[in-house]
Amino acid sequence: MPWLVRHEQEIYRDLLNPDERKNIFAKYIVEGMLRGDALSRYQSYQLAINNTILTPNEIRELEDRNPVEGGDKLFTPMNMMELGATPPTPAPAQGSQSARNWSDQAAIETRAQKASDDRRSLMNRNVRLFEDAVSRVVTRETNAIRKAAKSKLGQRSAAGFETWLEGFYKQLREWFPDYFRNIMLTYAESIMSSVADELGNEPVELNDELREWIEGYLTNFTEVYAVGGEKQLRALLAESEGDEDAETKINARMDGWEATKAGKTGFEQAFEAGNALSIFGYAAAGVSLLQWRARGESCPLCRKMNGKRIKIGNSFFDAGDTLEADGVDPLPIVRKIKHGPLHQACDCVTVAG
Ligand SMILES: [Zn+2]
Repeated sequence: MPWLVRHEQEIYRDLLNPDERKNIFAKYIVEGMLRGDALSRYQSYQLAINNTILTPNEIRELEDRNPVEGGDKLFTPMNMMELGATPPTPAPAQGSQSARNWSDQAAIETRAQKASDDRRSLMNRNVRLFEDAVSRVVTRETNAIRKAAKSKLGQRSAAGFETWLEGFYKQLREWFPDYFRNIMLTYAESIMSSVADELGNEPVELNDELREWIEGYLTNFTEVYAVGGEKQLRALLAESEGDEDAETKINARMDGWEATKAGKTGFEQAFEAGNALSIFGYAAAGVSLLQWRARGESCPLCRKMNGKRIKIGNSFFDAGDTLEADGVDPLPIVRKIKHGPLHQACDCVTVAG
């Protein structure tokens, strides 16, 4: 627009006296006339900001606008943030322009929020499937244990019962994965679709690699379940005073398992497997950063984790770490944590960062 510039210079030269020229200059406001150009200008600015070429204030100067507070920093985009750093929570816009408005932080936050809401509701819809499967396992498990406790401990043979127990859990490891395999395969497809929706790409197929991963997951889940059950029963035997007492205690524990184990383990698995599968999907899609997402109503510990980022493949916690938050007891971390759940009934999810 050379003629616009010439006009501006003529106005400056011919219509202003030397004193006025110190404070006043002429400039056409062409934005409204050139909306298309403004859009491409803003897109260039966005690129300049994202690639740390210009600061928001340098761009404001190009646009003949006054600088804003905080606008002199070269902005590091969210996906380039220091690993493990907590991103600032988007504050309500202050004034007409804040530095953040120039960034894509808000867009990333909106996408992460939507992804975590969608993922959490998908996981919640699958809790029932896992619960039903665990419930069938628990029925088979408790029936066998009650029967063995009656026959072995009834004959005052604590040693016989312990031997039986060892054999039983060895067998359980064989049949346990069969109760969950189909659920995991279906669940994997749903999670891969959800990840693809979030990333806007094609879902990862249920290929050999994913099937193998699921088998590995099931082996691990089986081990945790079997070890946990056997350990509890051995502890009961150890603290019992005589076989009769042992049988009473074991039956009481079976009542407890029948009442709560399916609900507890089913919920936990929907989130454990769901998050682990999501991360498989992110890795396959080449995502490099993961983000922890808690709901607003979550416990203070989980809320503190909200928005925390790690590089994919790393963990949010290592064994020996402690998570602290105001108003609650610190949570000692006993194992590597790559995703939620962080504790019982935790519905935190992991999305792309
Ligand atoms: Zn949580």
